[in-house]
Amino acid sequence: MNKIENLPLIDPHIHMISRTTDDYERMAKAGIVAVIEPSFWLGQPRTSVGSFKDYYNTLIGWERFRASQFGIKHYCTIGLNSKEANNEELAEEVMELLPRYIYKEGVVGIGEIGYDDQTPAEDKYFRMQLDLAKEAGLPVQVHTPHRDKTRGTHTSMQVCLEHNLDPGLVVIDHNNEETVQEVLDKGFWAAFTIYPRTKMGNERMVEVVRKFGSDRIIVDSSADWGVSDPMAVPKTAALMLERGIPMEDVRKVCYENAIAAYGQSGQFNPQDWENRSAIDQRTLYQENSVLRGQAPKVEIENPSV
Ligand SMILES: [Zn+2]
Repeated sequence: MNKIENLPLIDPHIHMISRTTDDYERMAKAGIVAVIEPSFWLGQPRTSVGSFKDYYNTLIGWERFRASQFGIKHYCTIGLNSKEANNEELAEEVMELLPRYIYKEGVVGIGEIGYDDQTPAEDKYFRMQLDLAKEAGLPVQVHTPHRDKTRGTHTSMQVCLEHNLDPGLVVIDHNNEETVQEVLDKGFWAAFTIYPRTKMGNERMVEVVRKFGSDRIIVDSSADWGVSDPMAVPKTAALMLERGIPMEDVRKVCYENAIAAYGQSGQFNPQDWENRSAIDQRTLYQENSVLRGQAPKVEIENPSV
């Protein structure tokens, strides 16, 4: 799938650490210029704080480098995910670690945080991290629960408001047709994860934009180690255009709104990718490269988007 009429795209929720370099290549070819990788769990619980530390270091280090080798700017959000908030002993240690990471280069928010099973521990650490975000003036990326979604989404927003967070700094993710109206009415950003085959598919996304418009709506893939599609944003953008959604609206939900939301961190500017340095796969990161004996790709000059 090639670039859509020179439309630049952003995937503001994707777990690249669990994706391959083929994905980076395909994404760049389809027009993705930047990604945001939220901190999440690993599919099984971590057992010590050192695992969190190494993971955060990977997000701000190796993964940024890896993306750059394919011409994509990589950013992340840092946080304690809801599932692992349930291990309170470990959660306390992670909370101590967070302030050391949230001000680093490439960190555009606190996330993804929120509720999974909607337990008291999840509630406690969600609130603590909202306070941290408020103190740091950073955007928040909220993961809403897949079970009991409507109630979980409602609660997530109520808690943000209770903590006096500006809804304009909070992205509520994993919306569906039932939750979107309330999210928009309350002034939050409404992100939609396009899952292959299940939940929110790209056909449904087209109809959401047709019905609710493009203001404050954001499309992402949430691709990770599970059944997911790193090409969800370009595919949805292409389908929207095919189904008659105006280019201006497609550009907003697949590019501009992510910049408006996460740009509030002060670190997410189009100049970053418009003036990115040329790809040079001869470059090393801590003596490691993404190559395995292949000929390195070296761009002669900076190709514009
Ligand atoms: Zn995620």
